[in-house]
Amino acid sequence: MPSARDNRAVNPPRIVVVGAGHVGLYAALRLSKKLNRNRAEIVVIDPVPHMTYQPFLPEAAAGNISPRHAVVPLRRALKKCRIVSGEVTRVEHARKTVVIQPIDGPSYEMEYDHIIVAPGSVSRTLPIPGLKDRGIGLKTIGEAIYLRNHILDRLDVAAATPDEEVRKASLNFVFVGGGFAGIEALAEMQDVVADALKYYPELDPKEVHFILVEASNRILPEVGPEMGAYTARQLAGRGVDLRLSTFLQSCVDGRVVLSDGDTFRAETLVWTAGVKPSPMLANTDLPLGPKGHVNCLPTLQVADNETGEAWDGAWSAGDCAQVPDLTNPGAWCSPSAQHAVRQAKVLADNIAQVVLGGAPKDYRHKHVGGVAGLGINKGVAHVYGVKVKGYPAWLMHRFYHVSRIPSFNRKVRVVADWVLAFMFKRETVALGQLHHPREEFTEVTPAVDLPAEKKVGAGSR
Ligand SMILES: Cc1cc2nc3c(=O)[nH]c(=O)nc-3n(C[C@H](O)[C@H](O)[C@H](O)COP(=O)(O)OP(=O)(O)OC[C@H]3O[C@@H](n4cnc5c(N)ncnc54)[C@H](O)[C@@H]3O)c2cc1C
Repeated sequence: MPSARDNRAVNPPRIVVVGAGHVGLYAALRLSKKLNRNRAEIVVIDPVPHMTYQPFLPEAAAGNISPRHAVVPLRRALKKCRIVSGEVTRVEHARKTVVIQPIDGPSYEMEYDHIIVAPGSVSRTLPIPGLKDRGIGLKTIGEAIYLRNHILDRLDVAAATPDEEVRKASLNFVFVGGGFAGIEALAEMQDVVADALKYYPELDPKEVHFILVEASNRILPEVGPEMGAYTARQLAGRGVDLRLSTFLQSCVDGRVVLSDGDTFRAETLVWTAGVKPSPMLANTDLPLGPKGHVNCLPTLQVADNETGEAWDGAWSAGDCAQVPDLTNPGAWCSPSAQHAVRQAKVLADNIAQVVLGGAPKDYRHKHVGGVAGLGINKGVAHVYGVKVKGYPAWLMHRFYHVSRIPSFNRKVRVVADWVLAFMFKRETVALGQLHHPREEFTEVTPAVDLPAEKKVGAGSR
């Protein structure tokens, strides 16, 4: 394995950032402003070339904003940092070394002085028959694009097919998990389908079924019980079939089986039933908590599981970390952008302090509540104890997130998308070909059988 080892004693301290999401991007940006190149080298490693502003994924899936505007290009946003397109597959903090698997080519090692471990979380899935083949999550921009094309494509299938079973299955849209991601995605996609149906005289809106399956007896816990109940009434009033205290038991070949005994076919199954810390953490020597999070002190320094003392040069925050919530003793900070972005700021300040010879400070933030968009002109919010519903909540949702998405450039683009969608109505056309771009070309291109000796890369560069 080639090594990227260099003379660490001569060079400025290297700060390696694993993951350029909410924590990684904001921390790297702030560090690069606080420490110039003579003070620190900041290396940001992520397999994707952009930060994804996840709270905008439902709006991107709905076509209210362009998917490109819901992401922030790393090379443009982090001009003073070194960007490495790859995945960290291993962290050996004992040797202060990460193993990087670039997006192409062999893996290699890189040494560091400080590491920010911020690979976030992945969908928390269960061993449910058929889920691996049929389900889709909503954590990435690719999933948002796919979901939009897939759902709009189902309308085309339903409108064209003479088969009644296929038509029904195409018009059943199942969402599992009633948190932020699931509710916002379901509400936005229901809005899109309602808009699109105006152009499908073959389809009766009564044939379309949006089904929410939630294991607990409430939805949207992020906005509290009262606003959660309001949201449930709102969605039920729009015709969403809410199955609370219900589990998905199976979805083999698209046949959905629920724990309440109901069974039906559905071509769309969106899984948004929570998250768990990145599985990459299992390939590190970092101290992990009971659910696989990196154990942290309030200073966002990685903490020894036995002594509780800070590990030199190791830092973490966001969805992958368990950070004590100092405003609620005994609890951890929830996995949310609200905490991730604020933790990133404190984390960056603390590293800068340590590099410059100072002492780190504690992270303390009382969760202020949440705002959720429920489709155009509809929303719900519970912020600083104030409960807001409907249009004002939707406006709050939009103002809040546009103020939060990094860079002026992105803010302007997002607002421009909203204005265009307001003036001309959003596009409701499926671009399903995106997912099979070479199909037509390969169909018309004859295959050529190469002589055996030419097959093994003979004559290549
Ligand atoms: C649909 C949706 C809606 C949401 N809405 C809200 C909301 O309204 N309000 C709110 O507060 N929160 C919301 N959240 C939650 C919020 O987005 C997350 O809590 C936040 O993104 C966590 O930040 P993070 O930096 O820990 O992880 P992320 O932002 O997920 O970033 C992790 C990064 O690490 C990279 N990575 C992963 N593995 C590796 C590896 N091995 N090596 C290198 N890089 C790696 C990933 O590519 C990614 O770029 C929402 C989440 C979703 C999915």
